[in-house]
Amino acid sequence: MVDDYIQISKLNDFIFCPYSIYLHSIYENFDTSTYHSKFQKRGSINHARIDNKTYSTSKYIIQGKDIYSQKYGLVGKIDLYDSKQKSLIERKYKITKIYSGYKLQLFAQCLCMQEMGYQVNKLCFHSLVDNKNYPIAFPSGEDLNFLKDTVKQIRNFRSKDAVLLSISPLKCEKCIYNNLCAFK
Ligand code: SF4
Repeated sequence: MVDDYIQISKLNDFIFCPYSIYLHSIYENFDTSTYHSKFQKRGSINHARIDNKTYSTSKYIIQGKDIYSQKYGLVGKIDLYDSKQKSLIERKYKITKIYSGYKLQLFAQCLCMQEMGYQVNKLCFHSLVDNKNYPIAFPSGEDLNFLKDTVKQIRNFRSKDAVLLSISPLKCEKCIYNNLCAFK
């Protein structure tokens, strides 16, 4: 059942702030211009090039492919898969730190690709603004447990749990739902 699957993009959002998942479900059908800041718009434009498959014309670069894992109950899209190097690459506008949510997202993409029969030899983040690569080790047993636990928590999350969150002004300032959130 597709409804039982968790979107890979929600893993990072949930780790950033569980309440953002609730706001995402409310506003997902709205025009994002109603709440996206300049920062998010810039990120969306860069991602649109991947979603539209216009980043590269090379035959061996697979872009914006739909992926899923029955084993982990995940669906989503990859950014780029280089089928020559067998590398899975997630691009972000500017990377200053590799957050655990970023890694979880790339691990989830890797597990989906492997389950779908693709060989993955390398995992990497790419920071667009400074053209830097950040290779990532393959997930350990602990990482896989963290992934399974996060998927379970997302499934069980209820918006009323949000009152238990400790709200951080620094985090809320960067959040795309800042203008809409009652808890900030
Ligand atoms: S504004 Fe803060 S509390 Fe609200 S969803 Fe964003 S990060 Fe969470």
